Amino acid sequence: MSFRAVITFHDIGDAAGPLSYPPRLFAAFLAALERSGLPVVALETLLGSTAVRGVALTFDDGMRSVFAAALPVLREHGTPAHLFLATGNVADGAARAQAGRFDMLDWDAIVQLHRAGVAIESHTHGHRDCRTLSDAEIDDECATADALIERRVGRRPRYFAYPFGHHNRRVRERIGSRYAAAFTTALAPLAPGEDRSCLPRLDAHYLRSPRWYAHLDIPATRGYLMLRRALRIVRGSE
Ligand SMILES: [Zn+2]
Repeated sequence: MSFRAVITFHDIGDAAGPLSYPPRLFAAFLAALERSGLPVVALETLLGSTAVRGVALTFDDGMRSVFAAALPVLREHGTPAHLFLATGNVADGAARAQAGRFDMLDWDAIVQLHRAGVAIESHTHGHRDCRTLSDAEIDDECATADALIERRVGRRPRYFAYPFGHHNRRVRERIGSRYAAAFTTALAPLAPGEDRSCLPRLDAHYLRSPRWYAHLDIPATRGYLMLRRALRIVRGSE
């Protein structure tokens, strides 16, 4: 049966909170995917055909742990991934950059991620809610991030993730035409014929038990995710 989903991670670490996914669980998640026979593929492959069965891994924001904790596990499994980078948070030179309580990546580490098969994609420059920006500001946020990434890693971003998952029709029309696909935080697997300007993803925060991550493509997991999504919508977080 066809099953396609994009998974969202942020920090790979042991801090409390929804943005941190423990390194031990991350390794177990990838091992479980391998055992389940559900291939981990690049977005180009996943979005290339609705007949594909597989998942793509994405990391949002650009926390340093993507390099320090996730990359060794990705390498071990030979797994591709995508980093949605907010370029305004990148550490410059010897200075350490922090966003909230997280250490952020520097360009050296980002280039190494790129070389190791982690595609660097856009998450804007300033990580602002695009709904609050003018059309010109949206264009500037995207153009700045795209240019910085292209200059540093030599590849222009193909995909985009909305900061905080926030978008509206104007934002989708503005941004959707710039990239091959744009992603939200809507908690669902991909479905055939979906609008490429607002594709859903599964936040790993809701996949902390092997009961779910080892069986992503069975009806029970789909039912669990639909329930969690309904609760998110009621709370106004989606
Ligand atoms: Zn973000």
